[in-house]
Amino acid sequence: MTEARIRIRGLRKAYGPILANDGVDLEITRGGIHAIVGENGAGKTTLVRAVYGLVEPDAGSIELDGQRVTIASPAQAIQHGIGMVHQRFQLVEPLTALENLTLGDLPHKGVFFDRPAALARARALAAELGTTMEWNRAVANLSVGARQRLEIMRLLYRKADILIFDEPTSVLTPQEADDLFRVLRRLAGQGRTIIFITHKLREVFALAEQVTVMRRGRIITTVPTKGSDPQALASLIVGEQFERPSLRGGTERGAAVIEADRLSVCDDLGALSLREATFSVHAGEIVGVAGIEGSGQRELVEALLGLRHPVGGSIRLHGQPVAGTSVWDRRKRGIAFISEDRDGEGACLPATLAENVFPLERYDPDLARGGRLRTSAIAAFARSVLTRFNVRGAAPNSPARSLSGGNLQRLVLGREIRKTPRLLLAAHPTRGVDVRGIAFIHEQLTQARADGAATLLISEELSELIELSDRLLVIFEGRIVADLPAAQATPDRLGLLMTGAA
Ligand code: ATP
Repeated sequence: MTEARIRIRGLRKAYGPILANDGVDLEITRGGIHAIVGENGAGKTTLVRAVYGLVEPDAGSIELDGQRVTIASPAQAIQHGIGMVHQRFQLVEPLTALENLTLGDLPHKGVFFDRPAALARARALAAELGTTMEWNRAVANLSVGARQRLEIMRLLYRKADILIFDEPTSVLTPQEADDLFRVLRRLAGQGRTIIFITHKLREVFALAEQVTVMRRGRIITTVPTKGSDPQALASLIVGEQFERPSLRGGTERGAAVIEADRLSVCDDLGALSLREATFSVHAGEIVGVAGIEGSGQRELVEALLGLRHPVGGSIRLHGQPVAGTSVWDRRKRGIAFISEDRDGEGACLPATLAENVFPLERYDPDLARGGRLRTSAIAAFARSVLTRFNVRGAAPNSPARSLSGGNLQRLVLGREIRKTPRLLLAAHPTRGVDVRGIAFIHEQLTQARADGAATLLISEELSELIELSDRLLVIFEGRIVADLPAAQATPDRLGLLMTGAA
């Protein structure tokens, strides 16, 4: 019998009254890809953070190759051959790829950095991954996919043979995700052990041999992916028969809510990133934006909201030019905003959940009157948002940072679409959200459309864009290169348009 590479027994971690891990027993065999799935807040991240020494368990043990070990820090995890690729990369942006790779363990000749030796090791690692890297480029100038590959190589450089990934594709384009999958299969083929948390069931079946389902801090089951299917796995995840509700379209298109005319916007470095975009979004329609990440989507949304000043062209909201109006002016006229940067911009992590949902309601006399906050009314209001959007794991007075990623996304959504907006600017609304949550959000978006909202939807999930949208804009290098009915779109056709190949 082969010894498990990792054996976890009775792992327990409580945060106050919440049992994030409630006696987890799990075995992971050597060499292969093992997926972990489960609803938001099920305890997946807590479990892998315990294995990586970032969470100190209250009880339980971890064995590697049958030997009991203590992992009290990431440094100790690395000594045991365990590495983790975080969603927010841990790279030093001004340094080159090579410098980042070797940081902390520089090859040297005497007191001098042995650059040729470093480069030789770097190239050997890239070859091992079956990929390439511009080793002399500053990390700040690397694509997201390249940064992620560099993170992986950094772990291999430190001799990790267990690699943990927490929702690694949530920051990648579909093309980059395919590249990552090739790399992971290769690493697994070389005998390394890959642990992979995801909400995308398609990825589970494309990649993993084994999948573990967690629910409410416990392991429900581990099954081979052969012989299962996405429908069955979704039912295991939610703990009951699960079928995606069908989304009915066919709402009547109303008046234009937002119109952009030859709109040009610069990025933070002053480079033109959106070029002469002309389009409109009408009441009762969802307009999807397909494009490789970084093609100007962010600048487009920020210009419509008033966070960024256009350098050319104009925007009209409900037929009126918006030039010179503030974000709050526009918000009062019915704009809701789901930011792509949930942790940095969409929510304030140190603030409480109530403080995160209250600001848009601050002129509601039931919640604040004469400059005084009515804290119990605000808490009750926050609780109603938590209940309706099924935000689990925290109370109105808990800090937002105590929520799991998917629950925080639900909180932001609840704040923004609780009342039907006139215009919804939604960037990646389902990122990090579990299967049931995605179905719920899709229903909310189609309901908002039926109630007359105009929605601009940005997503990397082409199937989500095609399924939800009435029309699709395709953006390539800051230009809108196609405006087509969603019914005429296929992922292949969009892929060609998005990369400028069509
Ligand atoms: P998601 O799919 O949403 O990322 P998850 O399965 O990774 O969820 P965890 O992040 O492990 O879930 O969270 C499990 C539970 O522990 C949640 O209820 C969360 O609110 C709670 N929790 C996690 N970290 C903390 C913390 N630092 N303080 C308080 N509670 C926490």
